[in-house]
Amino acid sequence: MDERQAMLDDIEQEVVYTRRDIGKDTLDPRVMAAMAKVPRQRFVPESHRFRAFANGPVPIGHGQTISQPYMVALMTDLVAPRADSTILEVGTGSGYQAAVLAEVVAQVFSVEVVEPLAKAAGKRLAELGYRNVSVRHGDGWNGWPEHAPYDGIVVTAAAARIPPPLVEQLKPGARLVIPVGEPGSVQDLQVIEKRADDSIDTRHVLLVAFVPLVHPSA
Ligand code: SAH
Repeated sequence: MDERQAMLDDIEQEVVYTRRDIGKDTLDPRVMAAMAKVPRQRFVPESHRFRAFANGPVPIGHGQTISQPYMVALMTDLVAPRADSTILEVGTGSGYQAAVLAEVVAQVFSVEVVEPLAKAAGKRLAELGYRNVSVRHGDGWNGWPEHAPYDGIVVTAAAARIPPPLVEQLKPGARLVIPVGEPGSVQDLQVIEKRADDSIDTRHVLLVAFVPLVHPSA
């Protein structure tokens, strides 16, 4: 069996293991098709290519990691993407999550606080032909107000509390998918839905472990 198929099988299996937490047995088939398509090996460093399709995180330098495939698939599913959606990602890292999102939605904006990572991810995504992704270097705590409001926001770093600008930049009915909790321990993956009256609904999905969301512009 090829490595990419093994990765898809691992994701499906982990979805089944966590079905009570995530409330479903399978993920959106469009999300799984994107996981099958995006060349994950191009997003991990040369030295870690042998782990490109393993269902675990991989170091990408600067103390950061590309998230495990299951988590990328789950977060993409939880944001409830539609073909015409514009999605904001906070924490570009390698650009892999942005590429998966770009396969299922119309437009992706992604913010990365580590400048060399932002530059490398932008270049990589352009080389791979992703014309519907824009990467910016900056503090994603503040979102990317120029393109707001968004049909969904995915934060791939753990925040001690929910950044208010991100909730502000959601359209009514849109979702924010974010790990909430102190770094160094486990965090609570939450789905925050903004209701039509601007109030929010919080769903606790499952325990996760992400690198911290820093806030240098505070
Ligand atoms: N989504 C990435 C993995 C993210 S790792 C991928 O698919 O490869 C988390 C990333 O969030 C790291 O690259 C880290 O530098 C970045 N980050 C942390 N705090 C941030 C902030 N305030 N704004 C933007 N990016 C941030």
